[in-house]
Amino acid sequence: MKRILVTGGLGYIGSHTVVALQKAGYEVLIIDNLSNTSIDVLQGITEITNIPPTFERLDLRVKNDVTSFFERYNNIDGIIHFAASKAVGESVENPLLYYENNVTTLIHLLQECKVHGISNFIFSSSCTVYGEPDSLPIDEEAPIKKAISPYGNTKQISEEIISDVCNVSNLNAIALRYFNPVGAHPSGLIGELPVGIPQNLVPYITQTAAGVRKELSIFGNDYPTPDGSCIRDYIHVVDLADAHVKAIERLIRAENSTKFRVFNVGTGMGKSVLEIVSAFERVTGETLNYKIVDRRPGDVVAVYADTKKANDELRWKAQHDIDAALASAWAWEKKVRGID
Ligand code: UDP
Repeated sequence: MKRILVTGGLGYIGSHTVVALQKAGYEVLIIDNLSNTSIDVLQGITEITNIPPTFERLDLRVKNDVTSFFERYNNIDGIIHFAASKAVGESVENPLLYYENNVTTLIHLLQECKVHGISNFIFSSSCTVYGEPDSLPIDEEAPIKKAISPYGNTKQISEEIISDVCNVSNLNAIALRYFNPVGAHPSGLIGELPVGIPQNLVPYITQTAAGVRKELSIFGNDYPTPDGSCIRDYIHVVDLADAHVKAIERLIRAENSTKFRVFNVGTGMGKSVLEIVSAFERVTGETLNYKIVDRRPGDVVAVYADTKKANDELRWKAQHDIDAALASAWAWEKKVRGID
């Protein structure tokens, strides 16, 4: 049984990936510092799979703790590294926190890979590295644009660090550039649990429908898009989790054609904010309070993935549509709020 370390494994995408890995027959170790999630997620994972993953509460910034972890757990076949801070606005306010949380921690992990001969590494990257695309859909050859936020910059820097390390060591790595992850596990036992006011569209929508928020603000309807609202590629988190399993399998089987590969992970379909709102209303039968407000600084107009490389090389393709993703997000929100 191959043993995979998942950092940030109790987070939103991490927890769904742990489930997918366990179902695919991997042994999973989780590191999480619980900074943006709850220990209850461990229970949710265990209820779904009937396999309690090994869990250590650990902060990857603390080098000694990281070293000690790798001394205690050997024979790790691969690492999937999710643990990172992800709030764009917060990163502008506190850039050092972001560089420490997202870059220092990566360096600590890569140092341990070298010491312990771990050669398979998956990194959580983001379509934010593309900035405002010159053409759509966007493929992996598109230029990396200067990052708008420290958060985005940490993703760019991290990809560069990993690529440089791959060049001079036995490390083989894949960066998955996520588009917009949404939805929850069909069991209703794990999902997205934003701390405080949600920054992302779908949790804001579900919290508004649940009565936790008064109304959704739609950031702009005067963009150069068919209905004036921004366009994104919303990918079901279960599909995204599956992409990680495909990626680690590829590394373990030594199928990577170069030592460092990047893949877009999206559906290839662009949806506007207003389309998401009406799909949510149609799928759930709920009526959503919303108003149009000013544009949000830093938002790109439209971005959606060219998924050919992931389809062909990873042999991965999104299986769920937006309706399924929104239905699962709503089922999860209702469960969290105790709504029947
Ligand atoms: N958005 C919105 N209201 C919100 C949150 C998001 O209108 O309360 C819009 C946002 O302007 C963007 C889209 O929804 O066009 C997706 O935003 P999100 O923050 O979820 O993801 P991003 O693409 O910015 O990473």
